[in-house]
Amino acid sequence: MENNQELQSLLDRTVAVCRSLTGDGRQATYIPELATVDPSLFSVSSATLGGALVSSGDTGARFSMQSMSKVMSLSFALEKFGYDEVFSHVGMEPCSEPFNSIMKLEMTSSTPLNPFINSGSIVIAGLIAGRIGAGAMEEMLDFASRMTGSKNGLAVNERVYMSESSTADRNRALAYFMRSSGTLSFEVEKSLDLYFRLCSIEVGTDDLAVMGATLANAGVNPLTGERLTSVDTSYTVTGIMSVCGLYDESGWFAVKAGIPAKSGVSGGIVCAVPGRMGLAVFSPPLGKGGNSVAGVEAVSRLSMELKLRGM
Ligand code: GLN
Repeated sequence: MENNQELQSLLDRTVAVCRSLTGDGRQATYIPELATVDPSLFSVSSATLGGALVSSGDTGARFSMQSMSKVMSLSFALEKFGYDEVFSHVGMEPCSEPFNSIMKLEMTSSTPLNPFINSGSIVIAGLIAGRIGAGAMEEMLDFASRMTGSKNGLAVNERVYMSESSTADRNRALAYFMRSSGTLSFEVEKSLDLYFRLCSIEVGTDDLAVMGATLANAGVNPLTGERLTSVDTSYTVTGIMSVCGLYDESGWFAVKAGIPAKSGVSGGIVCAVPGRMGLAVFSPPLGKGGNSVAGVEAVSRLSMELKLRGM
């Protein structure tokens, strides 16, 4: 089913059913600004490889990318520095601990298990900040804007950035630990600053669905026709989304929804189904693993209805 009208009514039905689940979770409060968001907001978007963008719910809602930005920074780093360089700094294995855990870093090796947990993404941000220097954030915003096909260009939500940057003791602990072991090759505060800014980029589900569709379309944005990544990068990123996208709930999500996805603590989930489509949902209340409760349910239902599983 990829007729736009059928897709529209499927998304409308999904929003109607899943909205009622928002009461089952609690939105993130450890970044104070995230606690101020209206928890009842709910939106779903899909972008087909034919270039159709269909959405439903509170589609005007804007929210910060949080960990969904890790998809974009990994894509960018792979394009700029290559596969071998990137994976000499981070692994590609799932992590059984929470996304901000320090335990595995100390117990196994000092290399973060994958680029989608905080430690791994801080290392990637350090690589980008160290190699590109002062223009890194501007380049990243440009890359993100083109990947999402955003007409006016994406921007950082400064309140979210300040809120995270001034309360991020845990991420600072991770970064200083990795700096002490030589895993983080660049200065702690500059690496973290880029990481926080990337997490604070403001998007809507339409932007994220197009970002997912770009990866699903082997690196070419299906709305603009622009190539953003190589085919290899798109496969690498969607592969890691399949096994590491929902932190320590990635296995459960793979069984439940069966598609490559990446969540963020703002309540968004971006999905990239190779050869088929991009999908995105937003609903702030999270379950105990830090993933949107209604969002996971919506993605699972859409995956089932659209027969996306196992693609
Ligand atoms: N900015 C958040 C943090 O570093 C991102 C975490 C997430 O979305 N899981 O804690």
